[in-house]
Amino acid sequence: SREWHLVARPHGWPAPTDFALREVPVEAPAEGRILVRNLHFSVDPYMRGRMNDVKSYVPPFKLDHPMDGGAVGVVVASNAEGFAEGDHVLHGLGWREYASVPVQHATKVDPELAPLSTYLGVLGMTGLTAYAGLFETASFKEGDAVFVSGAAGAVGSQVGQLAKLAGASRVIGSAGSDEKVKWLVEELGFDAAFNYRNGPVRDQLKAAAPDGIDVYFDNVGGEHLEAAISSLNVHGRAAICGMIAQYNDTEPVPGPRNMAMIIGKRLRLQGVLVGDHYGLQQKFVEEVGGRLRSGELKYRETFTQGIESGVDAFLGLLRGDNTGKMIVSLDR
Ligand code: NDP
Repeated sequence: SREWHLVARPHGWPAPTDFALREVPVEAPAEGRILVRNLHFSVDPYMRGRMNDVKSYVPPFKLDHPMDGGAVGVVVASNAEGFAEGDHVLHGLGWREYASVPVQHATKVDPELAPLSTYLGVLGMTGLTAYAGLFETASFKEGDAVFVSGAAGAVGSQVGQLAKLAGASRVIGSAGSDEKVKWLVEELGFDAAFNYRNGPVRDQLKAAAPDGIDVYFDNVGGEHLEAAISSLNVHGRAAICGMIAQYNDTEPVPGPRNMAMIIGKRLRLQGVLVGDHYGLQQKFVEEVGGRLRSGELKYRETFTQGIESGVDAFLGLLRGDNTGKMIVSLDR
């Protein structure tokens, strides 16, 4: 079995040489464990933070150890009650072909109900992030005008559609290519979208939302956050979910220059961590599962094939190669 190890801590943009694909023996599962052949694993922006040796809400990856993260696979051997060969499970030991998973960290998933990869995306962690961030953190209500950055990504594409389905007056998205912008408007039903590479975000947002916005869902930070503060209406709310524009920065970046607007407009900016919201999981799966089956909610996935492609998939995600969820597929 092969697995990806972090072998050096990246400074700035990670380089392929910071990682190594290593061969390890596959052993029969110990008591209380299952041996899982991974079929798909997730690469996520938060993993960049785990490559630094700093305290955060998830511990850093250890050098010369396998990296981990969301994965779905099939049980090939079980040494635990309640799990049998052939069961499909969601678990946290991605970045490897075979995983020995303690069963308390495995959740059974049904491939008949939805394609297995969706348990990593639209029905999984990124989907719940969108749902919780919009409805809990940003207190979205019917009639709100919503702006989401990173709008063609896994979280962002779901935020915009959920807002639209819940009665947003206007949904605006930003993304990094004209093709993504076209997808948002023509396929996902965004009212407006723009390519942030085509001009200042502030001007493009003002043009797309002449009456301002009530909710900002931030996946990007930096210039996007400053522009959103400028466009937010009185009593506007922002869910601060991610700041991908600065994950590879080597120096601290200056904050938005217009923070004083928070006072006059009585804005509320609040962070969201998906880990706090697993209480919503059942409601989320019912609602979103229903919307998926009815075809009201659309999603895309970008796959790379084979364990060898793991690091390229991760680097591609940071560059914006993906539309929707980025997934490494090991399915044969
Ligand atoms: P995405 O599917 O959105 O992939 C990342 C995207 O970020 C890329 O496709 C790229 O798209 C965009 N991007 C990269 N660099 C920049 C930049 N400099 N400026 C603007 N956009 C950029 O990933 P996720 O949906 O998984 O995650 C989205 C955000 O949500 C991330 O910030 C992530 O850290 C955060 N997150 C937070 C969670 C939480 O609990 N707080 C949980 C899950 C995710 P483009 O072509 O448009 O540039």
